[in-house]
Amino acid sequence: MTDPDSAAPAGSDSIRAASCADDYDPNSMPVDKARAFIDRFVAPITGTRRVPVRDALGQVLAEDIVSPFDVPLADNSAMDGYALRHSDVDGREGVTLKVVGTAFAGRTFNGEVAPGECIRIMTGGVVPAPLDCVVPQEHTRPGDGVVTFGAGLRRAQNVRYAGEDIRRGAVVLRRGQWMRPAEVGLLASLGIGDATVYRRLRVAFFSTGDELVSIGGSLGEGQVYDSNRYTIHGMLSRLGVDLIDMGVVRDEPAKLEAHFAEAARMADVIITSGGVSVGEADFIKQMLDRMGEVVFWKIAMKPGRPLAYGRIGGAHFFGLPGNPVAVMATFYQFVREPLLKMMGRDPMPLLPMFKATCTAPLKKAPGRTEFQRGVLSAGADGGWQVKPTGEQGSGILSSMSLANCFIVLPVDQGNAPAGTVVDVQMFEGLV
Ligand code: AMP
Ligand code: MG
Repeated sequence: MTDPDSAAPAGSDSIRAASCADDYDPNSMPVDKARAFIDRFVAPITGTRRVPVRDALGQVLAEDIVSPFDVPLADNSAMDGYALRHSDVDGREGVTLKVVGTAFAGRTFNGEVAPGECIRIMTGGVVPAPLDCVVPQEHTRPGDGVVTFGAGLRRAQNVRYAGEDIRRGAVVLRRGQWMRPAEVGLLASLGIGDATVYRRLRVAFFSTGDELVSIGGSLGEGQVYDSNRYTIHGMLSRLGVDLIDMGVVRDEPAKLEAHFAEAARMADVIITSGGVSVGEADFIKQMLDRMGEVVFWKIAMKPGRPLAYGRIGGAHFFGLPGNPVAVMATFYQFVREPLLKMMGRDPMPLLPMFKATCTAPLKKAPGRTEFQRGVLSAGADGGWQVKPTGEQGSGILSSMSLANCFIVLPVDQGNAPAGTVVDVQMFEGLV
């Protein structure tokens, strides 16, 4: 990407220089350190576009929204009942007032209300000055042209005052706000029909591997269908980015180079799967060194050991491992947040994590952070419980489908008995 509005890496930091830091060990990169490293080089895109408010859903606001008026616009009633002067009843019980009119929502009462008088009012109806108290109809005794009130009325009760929700001129939504249904509705409530959002991030992705067959082809021995492109497509779709699906690319240097070059021309971000593990990485490494700045890591995590990150042309590059579960785990841990940041979303939400009691013994060797797949459910004691899905191999994609969360086990954790309290990270909400 050479557009002036591209997702340019932040600052003048060089990825290569950063990878020469003293405490940097590419062969055993802690998860948090890799995340922090990537974060340094990621900045929001600058391009924006004006869209009808409905199309802003799922996008990121690129302007502050200021309320053009008080919300609510006028003092109005929160109940169906009667509006009166509090001073007419002040502390007394059984006061009877004359009913001189009715205020409906959208149909204001325009007459005068003299002392000793009141009006009937519906929810949302404007409370005319100087009335300052609304009594719900079930707390009244209506008579012929009059109504009698009980005791205990307070001034301002059941009156929604002008501006009590939002003051005119107040900032209602800030740049960086992710637009959910509530925010879209909020803009509509202010009569705002268009909004400026960040342009959509362009993300190109392809799978690498000689063994991969696309859907429609038949499988020979040693071949597998390319599933990574489908999980990546799904995870990216949920983020609301523009997708550029570049298919399957064989492990041939010329083909790979051409695809990387084209992806860098078209996209803000390039995501690949496969080809970054030891042995395979060597020729890709040399190629990417020529094309940009890329670091290759062995992350101290399971699944998802190999990971490449860097820049090719003006595009950010995430080289994910090939194993299907590793692809999803590394996407969630290393790609999702940088993409949200590039999309302009601010402040970055932390990945939601909470505690649950594990109902089965945990198998784990110390040394790496593990993202085991689990099923979280409500426990009998009112807390949360989680059960591992069984086999945890990084190729077992069905484990992701069975699960609704990651069980996140810290580096030093070893085997643990059933009943251990663990951290879990829900899938829903991640993307
Ligand atoms: P790699 O990282 O390229 O060595 O691949 C590791 C493992 O993941 C191998 O068993 C591959 O067959 C498998 N794999 C790689 N890419 C894909 C893909 N796109 N879809 C499904 N499996 C894959
Ligand atoms: Mg491969």
